[in-house]
Amino acid sequence: MSRINRQWRLTRRPEGAIQDGDLELVETPLSDDVPDGHVLIRTVYLSLDPTNRIWMSDRDQYLPPVEVGAVMRGSSIGVVEVSRDARLAPGTLVAPGLGGWQDYDIVLGKQVRPLPAIPGVPATAYLSALGSTGLTAYFGMLEIGAPKEGETVVVSAAAGAVGSVASQLAKLKGARVIGIAGGRDKCRWLTDELGLDGAIDYKHDDVGAALDRLCPNGIDVNFENVGGPIMDAVLARMNNFARMPLCGLISGYNADGPTPGPKDFSLLLMRRIRVQGFIVLDYLSRAGPAQRELAQWVGEGKIKYKVHVEQGLENAVSALRRLFTGEHDGKLLVQVSPES
Ligand code: NDP
Repeated sequence: MSRINRQWRLTRRPEGAIQDGDLELVETPLSDDVPDGHVLIRTVYLSLDPTNRIWMSDRDQYLPPVEVGAVMRGSSIGVVEVSRDARLAPGTLVAPGLGGWQDYDIVLGKQVRPLPAIPGVPATAYLSALGSTGLTAYFGMLEIGAPKEGETVVVSAAAGAVGSVASQLAKLKGARVIGIAGGRDKCRWLTDELGLDGAIDYKHDDVGAALDRLCPNGIDVNFENVGGPIMDAVLARMNNFARMPLCGLISGYNADGPTPGPKDFSLLLMRRIRVQGFIVLDYLSRAGPAQRELAQWVGEGKIKYKVHVEQGLENAVSALRRLFTGEHDGKLLVQVSPES
C-alpha cells in the first residue's frame, strides 16, 4: 500500500514575520515498506513552538538550523500504523521525538517513546503540561529560579504554555507571583483561575507602574520569556541576589538582526543578579521523575493548563503566527489526524 505524505518544507529563510511562501506544502508518496527495526507513525498532534521560528533562521542557535528545502522540524505525537519493531504494536500512541511537520514518518523504533496511558490524562497533555513546555517550566522555575516562601516572582508570557505552568510552580513553593500577559481575559485567568497574586496586561497597562504597585518589596525571581522593554521593566525592579531563569526572548525571534541585551547591563553587577539561559533538551535525561511529579500536581488540580488545537496540517503555518500575536489560548497544537 502506498500513502500520500504531506510535508511542510522550508523554501526560504523568513525575513521578519513568517510570510506565505516561506514554507510550502508538498505531497510525496510513502510506501508501507518499513525497514527492520523501524515503525511508520501517523502524526496525530503537532506541537507549534516559538522556537520553530528560530530553527527557520540561520542565526546562532542550540540546534542546527532547518536546511532550506528540508521538512520543517517539530515535535509531535502519533500512532504506530506499521511496525517492524516487536516492542511497538500498531495502534500504540507514541512520541517520536523531534520529527517533522508531516502526515507520516518512518523512524527507528528505539528512538520512539510509547506514551503512558494514565486514566483521565488526554493525549494533548504530553505536548503541554506533561510535555516539553511543562518540563521547561519545571526545571527553569524550580532549579534555576528556585523561589522560596514569601519571595516575589514575576513571569512574562505568563498565560502561555510555559509561563502558566511556571507561575503555578512558584505558587506551589509559597511565592507571591505576578504574571505579565496580553489582554484582560488572559490576566483574569491568571488571577481568578490560577490564583496568581496579580497580573499585568502589557498591551494596555504601563508595565513599570504596575510592577511598582504589585511588587512593593522588589522582585526576587524573573522567569523571562519575552525580552525587550518588558524584561527591562522587570530587571530595573529586581532585588540584590535575584535570579533570572532566561527561558525565551520571543519579542526578538522575528527580528532580522542580533537580539539586544538589557538596556542597563550594569544592573546585573550592581544587584548581583544571576541570569541563566537554559534549554529544556539539556534536562531530558531527568524528564521521567519531573513528568511524574507534574502529573501528580495536574491530577490534584494544583496545576491547570489549557491547550489550543487548530485543525489540519495545512493550517500549521498560519497557526504558528498566533504565537507572535497572542491569538491563541494555551499550548498551541495542530491536530493532523484523529487519535484513533
Ligand atoms: P506561549 O504559549 O507562551 O506563546 C507565546 C506568547 O508569547 C504569546 O502568547 C504572547 O503572550 C507572548 N509574546 C509574543 N510576542 C510578544 C511580544 N513581542 N511581547 C510580549 N509578549 C509576546 O509559548 P510557549 O509557552 O511555547 O513559549 C514561551 C517562551 O518560552 C518563548 O520565549 C519560548 O521560546 C520559550 N521556550 C523556551 C524553552 C527552553 O528550553 N528554553 C522551551 C520552550 C519554550 P500574550 O498572549 O500574553 O501576549
